[in-house]
Amino acid sequence: MKYRSTRGSSLYTLDEVLLRGIAEDGGLYVPESLPSFNIDEFSAGDSILDTARVVLTPFFSGSSLTERLEEIIAQTFRFPIPVSKLSVEKGNAWMLELYHGPTAAFKDVGAGFLAACLSQLQRPGGPLTILVATSGDTGGAVAAAFNERPNTQVVVLFPQGRVSERQQKQLTCWGDNVLALAVEGSFDDCQSMVKEAFAAPQLRARYQLSSANSINIGRLLPQSIYYAHASLAHFRDTGHKPGFIIPVGNLGNSLACILARDMGLPIGEIILASNANRLIPDYLAGAEWLPRASIHTLASAMDVGNPSNMERLREMHGEAAELSQMLTAISVSDDEIEQQMRDDMREFGFATCPHTATATHAYRHLSAEKNAADWIIVATAHPAKFDSIVEPLIGQPVAVPAELEAILSRPNRFQSISASLDALSNAMDEKFEVDEGTPTGDK
Ligand SMILES: *Cc1c(COP(=O)(O)O)cnc(C)c1O
Repeated sequence: MKYRSTRGSSLYTLDEVLLRGIAEDGGLYVPESLPSFNIDEFSAGDSILDTARVVLTPFFSGSSLTERLEEIIAQTFRFPIPVSKLSVEKGNAWMLELYHGPTAAFKDVGAGFLAACLSQLQRPGGPLTILVATSGDTGGAVAAAFNERPNTQVVVLFPQGRVSERQQKQLTCWGDNVLALAVEGSFDDCQSMVKEAFAAPQLRARYQLSSANSINIGRLLPQSIYYAHASLAHFRDTGHKPGFIIPVGNLGNSLACILARDMGLPIGEIILASNANRLIPDYLAGAEWLPRASIHTLASAMDVGNPSNMERLREMHGEAAELSQMLTAISVSDDEIEQQMRDDMREFGFATCPHTATATHAYRHLSAEKNAADWIIVATAHPAKFDSIVEPLIGQPVAVPAELEAILSRPNRFQSISASLDALSNAMDEKFEVDEGTPTGDK
């Protein structure tokens, strides 16, 4: 399997695209072609590891990681991803629980897979340094995934005072090969510093830099697996292809579902639920694709004004006219999210997070005809991660899952720095003792 940029025709190996993240021409890497699967290539007793092996094998052909695929899969899918039946008044609905990983959100899957791949890639030189700017969720998942992995070190930049207490804990509890930096500035400042670092020759001479943001294809591929696995199990049990309703931000999680359906997996309709950042629904309804400034909402991990994975989707499936034939998208306001979280608590008997509530809202507002189908609602994070939003709304505490509890009990380790490349570079040199060329662990 070879990969190419959405903006070019040169072909690259999986190893190259994993390491580079974004193409040199500014495009995003896509597979040259998609494999196609038959339902009878899978069997009834398959675990998610078995499904992953079948689906991912073609993507690894020609990669130096082929021999390691089994190990990579085992390291990625090391927490349960159950599908549970929901008690709803009318219709048939299930929930795909993507929040049982170390940082209690679906990004643990993509980050875990990328970390497993990058730490095992054969390459010359010292450790790989992953730079990641985060407004909350991504940095925690990446730090958790790369923590204690050989040959890698992570630098997480987050805006000081602008992430929730629990999110901050997930960014700063690692130590070891993870350097957490609280930047005196905004998320945009953090992002600019990462961009500047990639463009700075003196830093590149000392560090082998790589990024782990959501446009890396290594984040996308493993996300198709839970859609494949859930849809196969559902189809086998019921004879129906389930539809999926997916909270959407940067479109990575939804694109993974679309890819699974493209590859022949038994998936019905796909509905995207966005928050008030409504570029995707507007585009499908005929508006031009013009990036917007992001709007702050209760579902903050979906506050994306310019969903970068749309470039992949348009390249693979065409423009709005074609896309609106194969996808539906709606926008959910903060008021609706709040109301939905209360309704979810009452109807399901458990709380949903503000992101997941966009999808449950979409489910509640299906037409009668669509409501007759089987739907799997995608739960992207655990509500305990957003306790300060959820608890006042539902009027009761949310129990903290064990994986999150483990993180909350660890000490915080981070350093505050000014929003400048110099400050970043000094902090890195100090932590990683670059002269020896090896990570030194905690200091
Ligand atoms: C990142 C995130 C989303 C959005 O997913 P995309 O792949 O960016 O579309 C939704 N919910 C939660 C909890 C997230 O962390």
